[in-house]
Amino acid sequence: MTATAVLGLSEDELALQGRARAFARDIVAPRAAAIDHDGEYPWDIAKALAAHGFCGMTIPTALGGQGRSYLDAVLVIEEMAKCCTVTARIVVETNMGAISTVMAYGNDAQKKLAASLVLAGDKPAICITEPEAGSDALAMTTRADKRGESYVINGKKHWITGAGVSRLHLIFAKVFDERGHELGIGGFLAVRDETNGLRVTKREKTMGLRGMPEGEIIFEELTLPATMAVLPPSGLERGFAELMNAYNSQRVGAGTVAMGVAAGAIDHALNWAKTREQFGRPIGEFQGLQWMLADMQIGLNAARLMLYQAARSRGPDNSAFPDPMLSAQAKIFSSETAIRIVNDALQIFGARGYSRDLPLERMARDVRMFTIGGGTAQVLRTLVASKMLGWKLPQTRDGYASRISMRDAAE
Ligand SMILES: Cc1cc2nc3c(=O)[nH]c(=O)nc-3n(C[C@H](O)[C@H](O)[C@H](O)COP(=O)(O)OP(=O)(O)OC[C@H]3O[C@@H](n4cnc5c(N)ncnc54)[C@H](O)[C@@H]3O)c2cc1C
Repeated sequence: MTATAVLGLSEDELALQGRARAFARDIVAPRAAAIDHDGEYPWDIAKALAAHGFCGMTIPTALGGQGRSYLDAVLVIEEMAKCCTVTARIVVETNMGAISTVMAYGNDAQKKLAASLVLAGDKPAICITEPEAGSDALAMTTRADKRGESYVINGKKHWITGAGVSRLHLIFAKVFDERGHELGIGGFLAVRDETNGLRVTKREKTMGLRGMPEGEIIFEELTLPATMAVLPPSGLERGFAELMNAYNSQRVGAGTVAMGVAAGAIDHALNWAKTREQFGRPIGEFQGLQWMLADMQIGLNAARLMLYQAARSRGPDNSAFPDPMLSAQAKIFSSETAIRIVNDALQIFGARGYSRDLPLERMARDVRMFTIGGGTAQVLRTLVASKMLGWKLPQTRDGYASRISMRDAAE
């Protein structure tokens, strides 16, 4: 049985993968180094992705998309990530994450709005993280106050991917009623327009992924019609967990970017191991490197299988998104394994691997992010352990103490 047959890809999936591979080779690869060097968002690539149908593939056909699966998106992301991480992230965010949330929970007007922007190549932004609320997202202080038929949003987010380039924003905020009572955390859709109270105030100077801006966004009296609140089944105030379910697709996407970078790095390392000679022989003849290459391939294969499994899965509580447990495991494993693989690939190149003339150092800088963004590897391990144990594992001192006292009372 061939490796492809074991992965169980259909004719249609293989054809899509082939189209993505050709696009990556012909259009993306020649631009990748310049995107990193210039640090500019690749508008040309976003436009080409949209023209070739790689943006909004997962949007239902009734809204102009192709109704494709998350596995389809994964296949495309992997091919893009082999040569350009920024391009791969555009494919993630136009097919998973915020767009998945809107397609699952949005009203008709929100779905139409989101579909029209994303199908034209807009990469939506998800605004959760704040300076004092990172892993502890529930500590966010951005607020949405109900005023008549509107919500007025005030607060600050940082490390928002696509800040300053994205038009569509999914903003998470604490919701307050007209009497000022806090109700819970809700999600709101907004379209960026510099006059409407959504201001990008800073761009981060990042280690890698330089063509994709990460920035700080300030909301000042951003006034949205109440119809722009995204309503999951549990309602605006209680539906945070449901909205966050959309992150399972984003996690699968992020893990796939890391895996694709690793696959690209292995291709480079293999070529070099066959052609570079020292001591009168190709360096691939040295067992030290052969075992490194073998370990790289084993890690890649395992990460790919976990990601495909997660992409094909459906969570127990919400059929629209991949399973949280499988998505978290796949992201942790893939991101950590990819960092090791790329590091080893760079090692196989010796001094040349350390040079900016080759893509290895760019890949090493880019791939480092994926154990951090979208839930750190530590926080995701807590999620996995929580599901294994069947316990809620609150991380605040108070929450932990109350869990212990509940357990003691039960015993
Ligand atoms: C490139 C990039 C893009 C991003 N894009 C977005 C985006 O588009 N939208 C968005 O909202 N956010 C985004 N983020 C933010 C990202 O989600 C956060 O960085 C992440 O959730 C961690 O928060 P923090 O950086 O504040 O770290 P902290 O929460 O301060 O964590 C610091 C360290 O402590 C560890 N830690 C924290 N709590 C625990 C715990 N309970 N148990 C064990 N270890 C713990 C963490 O794992 C980490 O190692 C992005 C980040 C990066 C780097």
